[in-house]
Amino acid sequence: MSSAEAMAGRLAGKVAFITGGARGQGASEAAMFCREGATVVIGDVLDDDGEATAQALRADGFACSYVHHDVTSESAWAAVVAGIVEQHGRFDVLVNNAGIFPRGGILDTALAVWEKVIAINQTGVFLGMQAAARVMVEQRSGSIINISSVAGLEGTPGFIGYGTSKWAVRGMTKSAAKELAAFGVRVNSVHPGIIETPMLQTFDDIAPGVRDAVKMRIPMGRTAEAIEVANLVLYLASDESSYSSGSEFIVDGGWSA
Ligand code: NAD
Repeated sequence: MSSAEAMAGRLAGKVAFITGGARGQGASEAAMFCREGATVVIGDVLDDDGEATAQALRADGFACSYVHHDVTSESAWAAVVAGIVEQHGRFDVLVNNAGIFPRGGILDTALAVWEKVIAINQTGVFLGMQAAARVMVEQRSGSIINISSVAGLEGTPGFIGYGTSKWAVRGMTKSAAKELAAFGVRVNSVHPGIIETPMLQTFDDIAPGVRDAVKMRIPMGRTAEAIEVANLVLYLASDESSYSSGSEFIVDGGWSA
């Protein structure tokens, strides 16, 4: 699809911000959103990857820019949202996608590891929702998509901090959705299963064979490509999902069934 055809896409006219968009699922969502007509800003702490992702989309004629943005910083959130509104005139879609996946169970997780995963995966989503919602409420429209996990639907042994953060994302999605519904702002959570991104390196770091052992648990018998999550996130970003808010959207090959 050319940039001209994207003018008539499913996100035509919308302005979107995707956290952790330098690579993996966030980068796939950025490309998908561009192809569907959105103006996209991606944030991340991996500046080289982020610039390269945005540059490649611009080379294809799409409207995409990169900004260094650490989701744990309240002042950075205020600055990035204000900058997007100033430059593009509106703020329609926020994808709270940034995350880390540190290993560690209840018996062996150091406090510093716990605090870091909560800061990025949980507080980062809270700060993002708050900053975006303040603009979206004034605008009387918006869609916030919080990337949780199947680890936010069931217990995840060996990943106490990650699992806790992803359950929190699911919970705060529901509270925010009820608060914001009257203002035309929708908030939903997405729960991916095992997706082929650099994040899966965590399994390889535990021991050889762990990644394959995890795959054995997937009823469909395979992991997913990032675009399979992006297809769902696109639906939630678009007006096609106009009556959905506070809900969990699962894309896991049957993992949590
Ligand atoms: P990834 O590691 O490729 O991408 C995560 C991105 O977040 C990276 O670009 C990273 O630099 C960025 N990030 C980390 N800390 C940040 C910070 N403080 N501020 C801004 N950006 C930061 O992995 P992914 O699979 O694309 O992960 C995307 C989301 O999907 C995460 O929230 C993850 O927990 C979730 N998820 C992934 C899987 C999977 O199997 N890959 C499964 C379920 C949920």
